[in-house]
Amino acid sequence: MRITEHSSAADFSDTPYGRQLLRGFRLLLFKPELEAEFRRFLDRQARGAQRVAALLLIVAVGGYLYAERVLVPHDDPQWLSRLTVLRLVELSPGVLVLLLSFFSKTYQARANQLFPMLLVLIGVVAAIIDIQYELAAQPYAFRYGAGLLIISSFFFLGMTFWHSLLCALSIVAIDVFMASQILPSDRLPEHWIAVSYYLLLLVIGAISRYVHEYSQRQQFLMRKLLGWVAAHDALSELPNRRSHDEALRQRLAQARRDDVPVSLLLLDLDDFKAYNDRLGHPAGDALIGEFARLLASFARRPLDQAARVGGEEFALLLYDCTEDAAQQIAIQVLAALRRQAIAHPASAQGRVGVSIGIATLQPGQNAGQLYSAADAALYRAKQAGKNRFAGPDELPAAG
Ligand code: GH3
Ligand code: MG
Ligand code: MG
Repeated sequence: MRITEHSSAADFSDTPYGRQLLRGFRLLLFKPELEAEFRRFLDRQARGAQRVAALLLIVAVGGYLYAERVLVPHDDPQWLSRLTVLRLVELSPGVLVLLLSFFSKTYQARANQLFPMLLVLIGVVAAIIDIQYELAAQPYAFRYGAGLLIISSFFFLGMTFWHSLLCALSIVAIDVFMASQILPSDRLPEHWIAVSYYLLLLVIGAISRYVHEYSQRQQFLMRKLLGWVAAHDALSELPNRRSHDEALRQRLAQARRDDVPVSLLLLDLDDFKAYNDRLGHPAGDALIGEFARLLASFARRPLDQAARVGGEEFALLLYDCTEDAAQQIAIQVLAALRRQAIAHPASAQGRVGVSIGIATLQPGQNAGQLYSAADAALYRAKQAGKNRFAGPDELPAAG
């Protein structure tokens, strides 16, 4: 299974997701950019779980409080009031999380940093209550809260394995420290038995969370990879027609909001059929790859996009780009291809050329109309003798 998984990942080693699958992630850590993306995914998943956990905490601690005060109240009023205060402190992070998760945008953005700290706080309070119960030698004791917190930090809360482990270890460490400070030495052995259970819970929780997060990460990469494959063309590694259409619609909407010009270049390799016929299909494929790399270097800004929209047809979407600027880029593309001087045995100039149609978004035009305008310009460039660009109005210019 490992071999097939890795051999398929190797096929996609040109994508960040394929590369990460190939490198592995035994330490449950991706490369920084992917890690940030994964954390965002985990944060989104965790939001609901954290609310449920907060509610559960309120109900559970509220239940204990009721039992301690009403069902089996202790005779010592001082002990009871101390216990009540501790229970209220234990419960308060639940109320806080619930309120903030609904009403505070800042908390929503930082929930996953704050949540582990709150969890440690609850764990510490639970440990104090446990130790107090041990000290008071109660016949009825609602104990083992720290153990519950240790195991819960590994489940359902959307925290990473490392954060959960850190939380659980902190709770155990603080519990050990406080017990050693508070409990008399003859009570300590009993407490160490509780600590051994805590450690066992920690190990069980950590192993389960590790396995769970490993498969979460694997599925995340596979899903991302699938999305990448659906949006890209395997030969040129450029976005495909579908993702170009999507990008075009998005950019046009944004350009209208920002009130900036958008230009579209459609590029079609000249005499490509003859190139294939004379040099063979693999050479044609290699040419597509080479031209794709050249074109991609002209998508210089974040919102620009080079795409392969057909067999030997490409598009270059230029955001915040006037028609004049688009013409300059077309001239640069033609010059760059000329400099590469790729031999073409069946073309007039003896080297590979490309024809380019340029269109710039007009008021009221939609994505389909802009594409058609560029396509019509491309047709004019072909008609005028190929290896040149044409805009909508002016005469085709030789490259
Ligand atoms: P023009 O100068 O007018 O553009 O002519 P052309 O020969 O470039 O265009 P035409 O549409 O007649 O032929 C395009 C050829 O591209 C036909 C098809 O076999 C080839 N082709 C399409 N996709 C691929 C591909 O992925 N790899 C290779 N090697 N060839 C392809
Ligand atoms: Mg064509
Ligand atoms: Mg062609």
